Amino acid sequence: MGRPLRDLRISVTDRCNFRCTYCMPKEHFDSNYEFLPKGQIISYEEIVLIVKSMLPLGLSKVRITGGEPLLRKDISKLVSMIRNLDESLDIAMTTNGVLLKNKINSLKESGLDRVTISLDSLDDELFKEMTDSKFGVNQVLEGIKTAIDAGLKVKINSVIEKNKNENQINKLIETSIEYNIPVRFIEFMDVGTTNSWKLDSVVTGKEIREIIQKEFGPLTKTKPNYYGEVAKQWKLARYDLDIGFIESISSPFCGSCTRARISSNGKLFTCLFSEQGHDLLSMIRMEATEEDLSTIISDIWNKRKDRYSEERNSEKQIHRPVEMSYIGG
Ligand code: SAM
Ligand code: SF4
Ligand code: SF4
Repeated sequence: MGRPLRDLRISVTDRCNFRCTYCMPKEHFDSNYEFLPKGQIISYEEIVLIVKSMLPLGLSKVRITGGEPLLRKDISKLVSMIRNLDESLDIAMTTNGVLLKNKINSLKESGLDRVTISLDSLDDELFKEMTDSKFGVNQVLEGIKTAIDAGLKVKINSVIEKNKNENQINKLIETSIEYNIPVRFIEFMDVGTTNSWKLDSVVTGKEIREIIQKEFGPLTKTKPNYYGEVAKQWKLARYDLDIGFIESISSPFCGSCTRARISSNGKLFTCLFSEQGHDLLSMIRMEATEEDLSTIISDIWNKRKDRYSEERNSEKQIHRPVEMSYIGG
């Protein structure tokens, strides 16, 4: 389909200190759940080799994610190892934010450019219910503040689920105005097999915009900031505020999908909804060189035909997509 390879999302761990009901529901991710053993987790050196092999293929952005990336030991070290490969690479992280406060300075010094912090509710009770954790909203807000103060570019990610947190949409806009940072609303997706996804529980981008406009006035659509941008951009004129909408259910964007993913056990996935990945880690452990990896990845990428979100409602469906925490959101 001629889509260029631009972005790499790396899941550095399949573990998390939250149990968000739409991602790692506790009934499934309980004490019996078998997380990856240490020896099967991709090391920083192995990640760096993959990133290096992808630079000649056009890679310009790396996002460190998970699971919860801040649970991985010395995560700043990985940031600086990637930064040392290329000064111009855009390096971002997606995190739930509760461990950010103590790590932000070393992340910034290591060369992290941007951080996206997930926050679905400003109501503490609902936050605890959705994240099924002991943490509170204030810890996330503190993470957001420290990231802004440290001079990073910060965004908020919010997943909106029907009959759950629609009443938080306008509160999230208020927070976005207060902190002067963009928020991106994400349609609840059918990733993995454990989150009991139903089409009925999706609140579409259009429905979210209607709720916002009633309270804050007109929203106007603006141009994408770059080719392949996941979030559709809108502006809240009255506040000069940018708001993004990730509408992978109601308005899929596979035609410009430039994103590759590495799971926490070093498999390359060319689609968030893939059933299987390509085992780069085994190849590396069998002495594949940087050049070998470039050739293999380029070959896999050029043959990719995935466009799951565009085919979601067709006969051709997949049936066991891998979990978001493992492949990296
Ligand atoms: N733990 C980090 C966090 O929550 O930001 C990083 C990993 S998480 C898998 C990455 C993003 O995926 C988060 O913003 C989360 O809200 C989103 N996400 C997880 N499950 C989702 C689902 N079923 N539908 C839509 N977004 C989802
Ligand atoms: Fe953890 Fe992020 Fe998934 Fe929530 S969305 S369970 S914070 S990996
Ligand atoms: Fe890319 Fe797959 Fe998402 Fe389509 S469904 S945008 S191909 S990751």
